[in-house]
Amino acid sequence: MSKQQPFKKAVEVAPGIYQIEIPTPFSVGPVNLYLLQGEKLTLVDAGPLTEGAWSALMAGLESIQIRPEEIEQIVLTHHHVDHCGQLERIRRISGATTFAHPLAVPYVEIDQDFLDFHDRFFYELYRESGVPDEKLIIIEKYHKLITTFAERSQIDVTLKHDQTIPGLAEWKVLYTPGHSQSHLSLYREKDRVMIAGDHIIKRISSNAFIEPPRDQSQARPLTLVQYRTALQMCADMEIDLALSGHGEPVVGHRELILQRLQKNWERTDRLRQLLQDGEKTAYELNALLFPLLYEQELPLTLSETLGHIDLLKILHQLESREVEGVLYYSL
Ligand SMILES: [Zn+2]
Ligand SMILES: [Zn+2]
Repeated sequence: MSKQQPFKKAVEVAPGIYQIEIPTPFSVGPVNLYLLQGEKLTLVDAGPLTEGAWSALMAGLESIQIRPEEIEQIVLTHHHVDHCGQLERIRRISGATTFAHPLAVPYVEIDQDFLDFHDRFFYELYRESGVPDEKLIIIEKYHKLITTFAERSQIDVTLKHDQTIPGLAEWKVLYTPGHSQSHLSLYREKDRVMIAGDHIIKRISSNAFIEPPRDQSQARPLTLVQYRTALQMCADMEIDLALSGHGEPVVGHRELILQRLQKNWERTDRLRQLLQDGEKTAYELNALLFPLLYEQELPLTLSETLGHIDLLKILHQLESREVEGVLYYSL
């Protein structure tokens, strides 16, 4: 049963780009979908699989006299459920061709082998980080998010950096990993508009979520290092307007990016302070860095902590030793 709530109208945020804000059940708040009037009518992102999100999408489309059947293509910025959960529901109505980065595929298809690997990866990572056994249940909860707020779907065409999207000749794909390994942004050179997904968000700094490697024989990607590199790539670009997956558009992206990069160094300074009085596990550092959040938001905060440990490690400012499978860090 969907509750009665006022849905927002779609807003034309740049020529031929309509923003549709839809609710999510997550603490990040509403997510922005974008409808692009290219040669093909294209929706960027789909929203989570909830009745509220569905009603809001239908109301948003109706406010600009578009029927869902008319959507010809869907491009996913990344595989998180707030962005792709109701993809299949839209595809069933519209038959839209779906585009995404190849690394989104196993998540969107809810590939059981991959998800088993995903769980094993986090189980090992959390053990190594010193997460107490009774907290490892979070891995199952995290996994359940995918099956609760998304439905198995399919990617028809994969996209890579620098290519144009069929049916959207004005737009180019930017691979912007870090927040997620599958993260793509879109860029329209003629008026320097970027659809930034969760790569650049004004009111919150995007989390560089730790993810498993693309194949089991590899080490995990250093997601914060990657994220910073992808941010720097964008700082070098001319972007007049960055349209985010959450919250308001960003004008003045360079200043915001500089703040985000600077914030990383403040956090590494804090980590080094915390290690002054002796070695600690990532879990202990996490509790000290995020005392109010770390229990509630373990995957998010531990990603932050491990990301900053990675930064110090590549600068050789941090050492680690292993005791019974747990890593202890020291200066
Ligand atoms: Zn995301
Ligand atoms: Zn998001």
